[in-house]
Amino acid sequence: MEISTLYQIFCRCNGVTTDSRRCPEGSLFIALKGENFNGNAFAAKALESGCAYAVIDEAKYLVPGDDRYLLTDNCLLTLQHLARHHRRQLGTRIIGITGTNGKTTTKELIAAVLSRRYRLLYTEGNLNNHIGVPLTLLRLKPEHELAVVEMGASHPGDIRELVEIAEPDMGLITNVGKAHLEGFGSFEGVMRTKGELYDWLRTLPAPVVFLHADNPYLTKMAAGLPHVTYGEGADNDICGRLTGCSPFLAFEWKKRGETETHRVQTQLIGSYNLPNALAAVTLGTYFDVDAALIDQALTEYAPQNNRSQLKRTADNTLIIDAYNANPTSMTASLANFRQMEAAHKVAILGDMRELGADSAEEHQKIVDYLEECGFERVILVGGQFAATRHSYETYADAPALIEALKQQKPAGKTILIKGSNGVRLSSIVEYL
Ligand code: ATP
Ligand code: MG
Repeated sequence: MEISTLYQIFCRCNGVTTDSRRCPEGSLFIALKGENFNGNAFAAKALESGCAYAVIDEAKYLVPGDDRYLLTDNCLLTLQHLARHHRRQLGTRIIGITGTNGKTTTKELIAAVLSRRYRLLYTEGNLNNHIGVPLTLLRLKPEHELAVVEMGASHPGDIRELVEIAEPDMGLITNVGKAHLEGFGSFEGVMRTKGELYDWLRTLPAPVVFLHADNPYLTKMAAGLPHVTYGEGADNDICGRLTGCSPFLAFEWKKRGETETHRVQTQLIGSYNLPNALAAVTLGTYFDVDAALIDQALTEYAPQNNRSQLKRTADNTLIIDAYNANPTSMTASLANFRQMEAAHKVAILGDMRELGADSAEEHQKIVDYLEECGFERVILVGGQFAATRHSYETYADAPALIEALKQQKPAGKTILIKGSNGVRLSSIVEYL
């Protein structure tokens, strides 16, 4: 089926769904396949549940005489092509965001700022992959003035695939760091993959890059691209500095050439959020959002996702950052915790997954850094940490630590909990 024909059908529909359990009345169902499911088998149910049409790619699921079934060669490609077609039809200006850490936070902060002035579409939650990006684009409406699209990657070529769907006009790489090394092969692999966003922008007549100029890798990668910079140096378009982080980030910022200094108290935990917040200031300024509204948006923004949460229990204060961990974010979290003003600091760290051949070395580096931090107590969870040279308490997994906590519960401590999601450190929270 021609994309232009399908597009006409899409325009008459009430959005797109790929989940037969969520079928808004009049929507277009697209049957995707996963490791454990075949969406084609759910097309009939989707139509029953309210979808107006169902795009499938296996002829045996067609029902003769029922013209609500639309057959294509490959539903995933159809979804992606439809999204690009729609994006082109509307011509909305799109800002693409990628990077190793801080994409979602940066996207949310930018959205908070830009929505003070514009009708904005932005990625919902963390829907940043080859399915989430097209679904995001298909939510674009003519009234949207700008769109902010998060793009994630775990293998080389992932970002190229996403930029060729979203065709962003502008781009921001939050940072390049060590994550998914298994998939990328090396740190160079990470840089090359994130750089696919810049490669795309280089093909445009008038691209714009929002550049965190404190990062030498990014600065090098962005060479030759028109850019607007942010960072701690006074020569940046937006310069900012940390003024407090105990535990919530406070910072000040200034626009180049202006004397007025803005002070912002955020509800974000972690000094590593400074560049994320400065990115939002930079986009706000670039798109002429009133400075007072920028400050207000950043002051009022309260993170909804379960990352970097502060929780006070009856006995302890917890900083829970147990959703993901890689060497860059682990170091950032520890550095933040180290500089936090609090007594009796305890770090509970879980293994960093997916590091491939670099795993042993990266875990050792974290353990070595812990020596410098001088926390009152360090607890390591998982085989990778256990295998390093260190003198800390270790547990094989979260259940083993829970058993120990049941015997003796810490009290009066400030506790950082950080590890890869797979280590399930979130499960220990109720025992603290
Ligand atoms: P994902 O790959 O899961 O989509 P993400 O890039 O969207 O992650 P966030 O969800 O915004 O990132 O943040 C995840 C964690 O990364 C935070 O809890 C924090 O530990 C760390 N982090 C956030 N911003 C930065 C930063 N600028 N530099 C280093 N680490 C950061
Ligand atoms: Mg994210």
